Amino acid sequence: MSIFENLGKTITHGGKKVAQTAKTLTGVWQLKAKVISEKNNIEENYKEIGKKYFEANKSRPSDEFKESFEKINTSFDKITQLEQEIHAMEKVKVCPSCNEKVSRTVVFCPKCGAKQEETTVRTETTLLPCQNQQLYLF
Ligand SMILES: [Zn+2]
Repeated sequence: MSIFENLGKTITHGGKKVAQTAKTLTGVWQLKAKVISEKNNIEENYKEIGKKYFEANKSRPSDEFKESFEKINTSFDKITQLEQEIHAMEKVKVCPSCNEKVSRTVVFCPKCGAKQEETTVRTETTLLPCQNQQLYLF
C-alpha cells in the first residue's frame, strides 16, 4: 500500500468522522430545540394557571401570594391611570356601556348608542407664568 493510498484512506475516514460529528451535533441541536419548546410550553401553562388562580382568588389572596397579588393590582391601577392619560392626549374617552373608545364630544356612542355623560373638554394649554415677566418683577 503506497503512502498516498494510506493518506487517501485517512482523509476519507476523517471526512466520514466529521460528517458523523456534524450529524450528531444537528441531532443534539434539534433535541435541544425540542427541549426549549417543551419548556416554553410549561411556562405558558404555568402562566395560565397563575392567571386563573389570581382571577379566582383576587378577593381573598392567601398569605403566600399576598405580595404578588399586590404587585399585580398596583400594575392594574397604573395601567388604568396610564390609559386615562393616553385617552386625554388622544382626546377620547371610553364608553361606559361598551368600552369602545369614542370622541369626547359625542353625545351618543357610535357603537352601542348609549348616551354619553357630558364631559368638559379640557383645553391642553395651561397658563404658565411668562419667563420674561419674572425678569420684570425683579
Ligand atoms: Zn358604547
